[in-house]
Amino acid sequence: MDKTKIETLIEEVPKVLFINGQWQEADGGKQTEVINPATGQVIAHVANAGEKETEQAITAAEKAFPKWSGLTADERGAWLHKMADAIRGAAKDLAVVMTIEQGKPLNQAEAEILSGAACLDWNAEEVKRLKGETIPGPTGELLLVQHEPLGVVAAITPWNFPSAMITRKMAPAIAVGNTVVLKPSPETPLSALALMALFDKIGLPAGVVNIVTGDAKAIGGVLTADNRVRKLTFTGSTAVGKMLFAQSADTVKKLSLELGGHAPFIVFEDANVDKVVADLVAAKFRNNGQVCTSPNRIFVHESIQATFTEKLVSAVEQVKIANGLDENASAGPLIREDAIEKIDKQLDDAKGKGAKILSGGERLTGAEFDDGYFYKPTVITGITKEMAIFYEETFGPVLPIITFNEDDEVIEAANDTLYGLASYFYTNDIGRIAEVGRRLQYGMVGVNSINISYPQTPFGGVKHSGFGRENGAQGLSDYIQVKFLNITYKK
Ligand code: NAP
Repeated sequence: MDKTKIETLIEEVPKVLFINGQWQEADGGKQTEVINPATGQVIAHVANAGEKETEQAITAAEKAFPKWSGLTADERGAWLHKMADAIRGAAKDLAVVMTIEQGKPLNQAEAEILSGAACLDWNAEEVKRLKGETIPGPTGELLLVQHEPLGVVAAITPWNFPSAMITRKMAPAIAVGNTVVLKPSPETPLSALALMALFDKIGLPAGVVNIVTGDAKAIGGVLTADNRVRKLTFTGSTAVGKMLFAQSADTVKKLSLELGGHAPFIVFEDANVDKVVADLVAAKFRNNGQVCTSPNRIFVHESIQATFTEKLVSAVEQVKIANGLDENASAGPLIREDAIEKIDKQLDDAKGKGAKILSGGERLTGAEFDDGYFYKPTVITGITKEMAIFYEETFGPVLPIITFNEDDEVIEAANDTLYGLASYFYTNDIGRIAEVGRRLQYGMVGVNSINISYPQTPFGGVKHSGFGRENGAQGLSDYIQVKFLNITYKK
């Protein structure tokens, strides 16, 4: 792609805060750097805000709330459709911005952006079906159950899906009438600001969505402590989620926590090995394994282990790691240097305890890789419960293989984690599908499929993977509160 075109696209993204419909610098003009993980180069400087600007953003959202929540569902739905259209119209440019700051290949970036448009469209329609209840009272009174928005919603998002994590929260929140203060990840603020610039361009009313980039502790501190913020929706690590959960206790906020995962991927002996290998490679190398639902522990039945591993290694060796701008890239760089250090540490620990690397197992080097954060696609066998990788989320291009013999044994091992987000298993035995599906302690189960995320289905976890759901009717209802009215009208 033309270098000047890329530079122009990055240049055009506002690098400042968006509060009350105005673009503004952080106090004192403070800024932070944004780095391209494929080259290690600084690509932009973005406003670095703190407590004062966060309070201003909450005030703006509070001020916008009465008018926005006073619109009809149809009127708000029409705004969401307009936002979706604007995203679709700019999808290719937004994808370039995302690839430059986040690293994923352009086709994956564009697919993510379009999924955000689909999410806005779906919520625009679903909000029209947010029905209440009428209940006949025992003495003739009219008992009503109504849904209403919560007020100001704070959203904190991670870098791995810098656009979709925002639309997933913002779409249901504003569809039902809430207003939003968003803090995107400092690694990927440009994708958030570029989205906001589009919404500004189509005239979204001031204060409905506000963006504050900057100091996580300061911004998070105000968002959790302020009584005007009635809900916090967070996607990120379990450690930070737990902290925000505790911080929100004092103001009794409603919460949605989409936290870490450690997905088991189980291959039973009757599975179609070729399909499983193709699905596994597609799922693992999506965003280079930096996905909360990425298969992290590959359980393979002993009887097919040799064939499976041979086919897997051969498929993994076809994965092309490259700068995401390269149209042949199947995966890009990792986000930061410490992501590489974490993988090295997990692999060293596993090797030291007897595991064997079959492919990859080290950083990618060479002219085009040396300044970025690239890692070789890796397959490692002989994983046991003594190794850190069995229990820790990896967040990188590593496939650890664990063999098993009995169904009970593998179900127990798959559930042997504090996480409970996504899980997958492959078998053609209907009895086994019902039984394993029932016993896996996960919020989402892919059966002979890696597809577990749609605008119309609930996405979320159990145990330390958090609570609340995004997408689906359940996602929308996480942004409302219930009001009961007794209307006694007989004299
Ligand atoms: P992270 O370190 O927890 O950061 C997530 C967001 O929280 C960032 O914007 C971060 O900003 C902010 N943050 C950190 N400390 C904060 C504080 N004290 N107060 C307020 N905000 C704070 O997670 P990440 O590394 O960006 O993302 C990877 C993690 O997200 C993985 O564990 C992954 O499994 C999880 N994830 C879960 C889902 C899901 O749906 N369940 C989806 C995607 C990712 P700073 O960077 O400035 O600290």
